[in-house]
Amino acid sequence: MSSSSDVQVQGSNDWSIASKLSTVTAGYYKDSFISCFAQKPAKRSSLIHRGYYVRAKAMHYIFDRFLSQQHPKCQIISFGAGFDTSYFTLRQQGHSQIQYVEIDFQDVVTKKWQLIKNHPYCAELAAEKDTIYHLVAADLRNLPSLTNLLFEKICLSPSEPTLFISECAITYMDECSSSKLIEWCGTTFSNAVFAVYEQIRPNDGFGRVMQQHFIQLSIPLLSLPAYPDKKPNKIGWTSCEVYDINEFVHQLIPSDELDRMRKLETFDEYEGFNEKCSHYIILTAAKGSCKPLLPIKER
Ligand code: SAM
Repeated sequence: MSSSSDVQVQGSNDWSIASKLSTVTAGYYKDSFISCFAQKPAKRSSLIHRGYYVRAKAMHYIFDRFLSQQHPKCQIISFGAGFDTSYFTLRQQGHSQIQYVEIDFQDVVTKKWQLIKNHPYCAELAAEKDTIYHLVAADLRNLPSLTNLLFEKICLSPSEPTLFISECAITYMDECSSSKLIEWCGTTFSNAVFAVYEQIRPNDGFGRVMQQHFIQLSIPLLSLPAYPDKKPNKIGWTSCEVYDINEFVHQLIPSDELDRMRKLETFDEYEGFNEKCSHYIILTAAKGSCKPLLPIKER
């Protein structure tokens, strides 16, 4: 049985997916599968479009960097995956050997399976006979059941290169549970990257709690040496780097791509956009044979 706050958290997925569809429809980035998963189309503002554009760019950056470094046979585990379409996009791009695991609450997983079954191409990609796609239900606060799920039921390897993703997901968990999840990943998998795109420093009351939570969560990661080949810290990771989204936009998105994006819609909310970007970060931590995904900053 989900608690009422868990149901509220699951509702955040409905807002995300409708915003992503609106952003794709306005031409900010391509996603051939988004319309299969967005049930209630809604037109969002250009400010929201830009926010979802940089979020998509950050996630594409993470996937591209990880997949360009690794053997094609690797593992990706998406925490709080919601109706994210990345698995289908990667399959369409020819990545056919990745063990791809998506985890969310039971109700979200049941709805997503229904949407997949309604769409013949998605159903085909999700039902390959060598079963590389695993859309499964779990509460990420329950580590014993997560361990059982990933190793007993899905039979993942603790040593294959593994990318953990949290795109606006683990900030919805209490601080203790998300810290334990990050620690569990760092101590259970020997070659891994943990990548997050999450919100920090927002203005509302709920956001302030999340900010504290995420800063606390990040401290053990951010206090790591920026260089690999060191001994893992107590929560398992050897290197970590973080960019706020203003830094990410100006340093890691090519300027011609930004020029293309700027021409898409009339826009005059520059201050609002900068402020919004300063409320989000992209952070990656790595260990073992996996290299950090973000360039190490001069310090
Ligand atoms: N990552 C997706 C995206 O960016 O489109 C969905 C993001 S949505 C804002 C957050 C997701 O995290 C929801 O689908 C929610 O159900 C899931 N989530 C939050 N806490 C969770 C938990 N303890 N266990 C499993 N899923 C959780």
